Amino acid sequence: MITLKTPEEIQIIKEGGKILSATLKALEKMTKPGVTTIELDRAAEALILSHAGAKPAFKGYEGFPYTLCVSVNENIVHGYPSNYVVKNGDLVKLDLGVLYKGFNTDSAITVAVGDVSYEAKRLINVTKKSLRLGIKKAKIGNTIGDIGNTVQRFIEDQGFGVVRDLCGHGIGKTVHEDPKIPNYGKRQSGAPLVEGMVICIEPMVTMGDYTLRQSDDGYGYATRDNSLSAHFEHTIAITKSGPKILTD
Ligand code: MG
Ligand code: MG
Repeated sequence: MITLKTPEEIQIIKEGGKILSATLKALEKMTKPGVTTIELDRAAEALILSHAGAKPAFKGYEGFPYTLCVSVNENIVHGYPSNYVVKNGDLVKLDLGVLYKGFNTDSAITVAVGDVSYEAKRLINVTKKSLRLGIKKAKIGNTIGDIGNTVQRFIEDQGFGVVRDLCGHGIGKTVHEDPKIPNYGKRQSGAPLVEGMVICIEPMVTMGDYTLRQSDDGYGYATRDNSLSAHFEHTIAITKSGPKILTD
């Protein structure tokens, strides 16, 4: 069931999204050689809790014991923070959620640490741009398939893989709500986008094949062929005046 949000609820989600995006920006700066991923998690939790009324959205959600998902290189999402020491050349994916006044927001970035290859930079830029293009399609009159189709075509034209096993989602009082937002699909297919929908668009892109396996940590997902991966995510509201990014 798709739960539509009122303009007042969307305003609350936007306030939570501001806390989330400020936290992700601070974490991005901290993601340097020598930092451990558990240190990033602790910083994320402290930063979120420094805002009155804000809580980590992922902590305790489906048993996840941390604030931040950290996935490095071939690992793409749902990685557990650990004593792993970030090193030069890593692609570090930070995925974070904030619960604020009863509503969740969800956003992710990929950080290139130090010197990464030209192809790795291109992977990150293509993923970021595919998210921008997908967001542009998130408007009344289009369908969920229009978002996925646009994201997929752009990524595949650039020679990269689009993950099929995981997708974006609606969001609100719970982190994952209907509908599912795949990063692939056919134009004009799937549910129509209507005013008041709040969704997370989150392309997951691979340098090689798009099929996944369980990560070595036993929790996250990684590319089966161990190729590098990138992930960006925003929480978006469908409004009369077009798509509104709530985690910016
Ligand atoms: Mg996320
Ligand atoms: Mg998400």
